Amino acid sequence: MEDRLVPMPEDWRRALAIVAHPDDLEYGAAAAVARWTSAGKEVAYLLVTRGEAGIDTMEPAEAARVREAEQRASAAVVGVESVEFLDHKDGVIEEGVALRRDLAAAIRRHRPEVVVTLNHQDTWGRNWWNTPDHRVVGRAVLDAVGDAGNRWIFTDLAEDGLRPWDGVRWVAVAGSPEPTHAVEVGEEDVERAVASLAEHRAYITALSDKEPAEYAREIITGAMDELAGRTEGRRAVAFRLYPRG
Ligand SMILES: [Zn+2]
Repeated sequence: MEDRLVPMPEDWRRALAIVAHPDDLEYGAAAAVARWTSAGKEVAYLLVTRGEAGIDTMEPAEAARVREAEQRASAAVVGVESVEFLDHKDGVIEEGVALRRDLAAAIRRHRPEVVVTLNHQDTWGRNWWNTPDHRVVGRAVLDAVGDAGNRWIFTDLAEDGLRPWDGVRWVAVAGSPEPTHAVEVGEEDVERAVASLAEHRAYITALSDKEPAEYAREIITGAMDELAGRTEGRRAVAFRLYPRG
């Protein structure tokens, strides 16, 4: 039997969630976001792309517009008003210094204590291969947290007024095949997470015959049921936590 997950620390005020695509946070993490915002914490979202390559039946320019709107609506459902897009290219996000610089700039601007991202490992577990964008962005986020705190890296950012921020205490990776911590959530948080995922209506409609709300409920509660053995049956969102300092 696998170990029980440890409760995630709650003595913080600001989080910045950085992911590759619209919908990445809604496939699980949003229930924790709902809990955090209802407890008075501030959470902002940063999307590296607009997910323009994510809908087979829709041209990228149109998909970018639709998915940005869906992401803003789904963020609002869980109490997130700040939603920014970096406009890297969906599907072919380039790993490297340019991406790290963009992420470090955002971390310096938002000054979060917690940074949330999505699974950067090769698989989701069970040999389900992860996508290149998730691998690249997750790893770059972990790297950029260090960059954000070092005044001698990206010195031009400081010249633009973005002073170093060394206050990130944890990076929390959602969707990890090796979670370490859990955020227990209530019924209301689960309902908001379901509604938040269901806002990705065009995306879900293109990949499933189910009603978005029905599809979203199955995904959100299914993931929580799978985790129940490690949370004493309580509903929770799992993260792999990387503490700093
Ligand atoms: Zn994604």
